[in-house]
Amino acid sequence: MKKVHVFNAGPCLLPETVLENTAQAIKDFKGTGVSVLSISHRTKEWEATMDECRSLWKELLNIPDTHEVLFLGGGASMEFLYVVMNYFEKKAAYLETGVWAKKALKEAKGFGDAYAIASSADKNYSYIPKGFEIPTDIDYLHITTNNTIYGTEMKEDIDCPVPLIADMSSDILSRPVDVSKYALIYGGAQKNAGPAGVAFAIVNKDTLGKVSRYIPTMLDYRTHIDKGSMFNTPPVFGVFVMNETLKWVKSMGGVEALQKMNQKKAEILYNEIDRNSLFVGTAAKEDRSLMNVCFVMSEGNEGLQDEFLAFAKERGMIGIKGHRSVGGFRASIYNACTLEDVQALVDCMQEYEKLKK
Ligand SMILES: *Cc1c(COP(=O)(O)O)cnc(C)c1O
Repeated sequence: MKKVHVFNAGPCLLPETVLENTAQAIKDFKGTGVSVLSISHRTKEWEATMDECRSLWKELLNIPDTHEVLFLGGGASMEFLYVVMNYFEKKAAYLETGVWAKKALKEAKGFGDAYAIASSADKNYSYIPKGFEIPTDIDYLHITTNNTIYGTEMKEDIDCPVPLIADMSSDILSRPVDVSKYALIYGGAQKNAGPAGVAFAIVNKDTLGKVSRYIPTMLDYRTHIDKGSMFNTPPVFGVFVMNETLKWVKSMGGVEALQKMNQKKAEILYNEIDRNSLFVGTAAKEDRSLMNVCFVMSEGNEGLQDEFLAFAKERGMIGIKGHRSVGGFRASIYNACTLEDVQALVDCMQEYEKLKK
């Protein structure tokens, strides 16, 4: 197979061992003679996998007993609606840090007084708004900890006087999180926690049951808590691969060890962007994401964009074209991306600079 370096924003790169174990389970799940694609979700072998996956989440993120872990269909986008159904009564605030945050807010607006408490739209979401006051008369504050498209990240858990809800689709498991500070943490798995097709929710059970509106059964987190995420057929394959991914996270030393690696990878790449005269970063330095590194050609070199893309592609770089709303380049360097992958991209940028001198 061709040697490539995958920087896709999602679905993301998955570790080699995860792929190998999954390939094996597609043929024979746990020695049952049945493929994981055909295994009944009512077997004890499957239930053991669900249990293992739940326990691994709890162990890796040090999740307190107040919170439960759920596996759901519908992606992070469906959870925008879960949030509204389970938490929105009269008024809610959203920190508008990008397109995903805006989409989450849109769902709440459909039900009443939901608003952006602060926004970085004025500078194309290139920074995280700071210094805003959180009112106490709102049902919750919604934040997006990592803005996948713009490459900004809130790297610390904020203090919040009202229930705090976070879309952590693209930085979950990249660092330790103080789960006790959140009413709800949710996301799609496909950025750092597994394959597309399954979403996770880490929900504080005490924060549920406070809205007066009827909640459709499938959109009520309590339905899934009561049935251990098996109210209906769970995303079996997605949970299997997620479980393999979590086993890999543990084998790497957990989220603390991965955080160190992620810091190292990001540092190498941002240093090159800052050093290399052909490129410039788009996110405010203090808010730079450790997961999605966004950069463009520097002033006067804009015309080289397509040429560099082709140059990089020839050298095995996959998925570095920036999102259309930012342009330029985006390298997603999630957990499974290695130092070697990042170094290969840096080498490629240096080689290209030499060529142009
Ligand atoms: C990718 C992404 C989403 C959307 O996820 P889907 O699973 O495709 O619905 C939402 N929020 C963030 C931060 C994302 O990165």
